[in-house]
Amino acid sequence: MTKLNSNTPTGDIEKRWDKHLVELSLIAPQNRAKYNIIVIGTGLAGASLCATLGESGYNVQSFCFNDSPRRAHSIAAQGGINASKNYQNDGDSTQRLFYDTMKGGDFRARESNVYRLAQLSGNIIDQAVSQGVPFAREYSGYLANRSFGGAQVSRTFYARGQTGQQLLLGAYSAMSKEIASGKVKHHSRCEMQEVILVDGKARGIVVRDLASGEISAHTADCVVMCTGGYSNAFYLSTNAKGCNTSATWRAHKKGAYFANPSFTQIHPTCIPPTGENQSKLTLMSESLRNDGRIWTPKKVEDCNKDPREIPEEDRDYFLERMYPAFANLVPRDVASRAVKSICDEGRGIASEINGGLADGYFIAPRTVASYLAKNQFEPIGLDHPAVVQTLNEVKKRISKLMNAPEPKHSPDYYHKKVGQILWGACGIAREREALKSAIEEIAKLHIDFWQHIKVTGVDNEMNQTLERAGRVADFIELGQLMCRDALEREESCGCHARMEHLAEDGEAKRDDDNFAYVAAWEYSEEGEILNKELLDFEFVKPSVRDYT
Ligand SMILES: Cc1cc2nc3c(=O)[nH]c(=O)nc-3n(C[C@H](O)[C@H](O)[C@H](O)COP(=O)(O)OP(=O)(O)OC[C@H]3O[C@@H](n4cnc5c(N)ncnc54)[C@H](O)[C@@H]3O)c2cc1C
Repeated sequence: MTKLNSNTPTGDIEKRWDKHLVELSLIAPQNRAKYNIIVIGTGLAGASLCATLGESGYNVQSFCFNDSPRRAHSIAAQGGINASKNYQNDGDSTQRLFYDTMKGGDFRARESNVYRLAQLSGNIIDQAVSQGVPFAREYSGYLANRSFGGAQVSRTFYARGQTGQQLLLGAYSAMSKEIASGKVKHHSRCEMQEVILVDGKARGIVVRDLASGEISAHTADCVVMCTGGYSNAFYLSTNAKGCNTSATWRAHKKGAYFANPSFTQIHPTCIPPTGENQSKLTLMSESLRNDGRIWTPKKVEDCNKDPREIPEEDRDYFLERMYPAFANLVPRDVASRAVKSICDEGRGIASEINGGLADGYFIAPRTVASYLAKNQFEPIGLDHPAVVQTLNEVKKRISKLMNAPEPKHSPDYYHKKVGQILWGACGIAREREALKSAIEEIAKLHIDFWQHIKVTGVDNEMNQTLERAGRVADFIELGQLMCRDALEREESCGCHARMEHLAEDGEAKRDDDNFAYVAAWEYSEEGEILNKELLDFEFVKPSVRDYT
């Protein structure tokens, strides 16, 4: 087992990030053009990083599988972005945002990181506004705020139901300026297949051009992955069909640790799914919870009625009833569990799984520069043995996908199967025996997949079945790790209820003595190894979350 070092800064919480910035190494402006950086993914995280690195003077190569960076899944984010600017004068502060986020995350996050998020939250709004992001405004011209889950203050900056789309247009505009200046070379429709490792460092990637099928290698001094969430593993998800885990899973298999794989976000408006043939989930913006009221019929027999026919006395405003202090604004995980319990009673009407608006403007540009300054990088040519070997690995895997011994089932068949297993055993409600069976079932599915996957067409031209097959193969392996992680965590935490660990009132029961850690999984051929990074709580005392 490896000794983990997260390099989180220490000392006074208010000064930690500033102190850390001083301790990070810098690269002088005239030297930055000597460095080449690959950025995979051009959603909000990647596009903002490319723009900032390009503007700083580094040479950047960016890749995304979409037709354009504008199509990244960040466009789907609807609700808004939190910042403790206290425009409403309702008592907000960095400290309060810090506390609400620690508590909202059920005390399973690092204090240093969460404080930094709170501290930088205002800068992100200013950055986006200066890029022209049209956040909603009051008639007076001031930026407007809406209320959101988990907070008793109004701190969410928004652009109607399109916050992510508007933010991405801002980041994409900034990135486009760098593409025009030549500092960023962008490759759309290119999917990363493997990382090229040299002396334990990521020095390049192998990609498949999704339009031509061409496989090519690209080298650099460092590789940064901003490849989004993996909740599509559940098949039913609000993530777009193309969202996948392949980049992160390939990197994991080459040595990157996978943190807390079973911690996925399940959106309250997406529970339960409506039927067998549903292909996607529909998310309703959480602004519904502040701008309106949430209810279900009190009686099961009323569930099929036109809601307008159900009188006020027969409506159950269940979040207001269960959590009077926060009511409809309880955190998302608490709302999701409440919605599930209502659905389990048969009072559900209709149903998500999604993944925050990440930030490449203020953090990654500093940490990437420090990494470059502290290391030496010999140039890597395309004839380097590690490049040749990785190219061969990718071609071999594609050939295996194209030529299963008994081709029978489509990638979607397997995707649905693994999704059903995960939703049943590793969704909101989890239980020891079900998780054990799920691990066995997924192992069998893995064998079945490689025996029976049927990929039509050819590999050296556009082939979406091949793309999907490669992604589903990775979802299956990840799915097994998600279940292992959930099985290991003998506590209820966030929206994940371990049915063996519930309080008498049915609320989640954490176990801080034994599980206040980040599970960092290390890949090995013999089986995944669990490394634990213990979480220190110096400034916030973990408490039983009470929103009543
Ligand atoms: C419906 C919905 C609503 C949401 N609402 C909110 C909200 O209100 N507020 C909030 O803070 N958050 C919200 N979120 C979460 C937030 O949108 C995401 O966490 C955030 O946008 C992720 O940004 P990203 O840049 O990391 O990933 P993405 O935007 O998903 O971008 C991923 C990028 O990686 C690329 N990529 C992936 N794999 C590869 C590969 N193998 N090779 C090449 N390229 C690859 C993709 O092409 C893409 O460019 C919501 C999410 C969803 C789904």
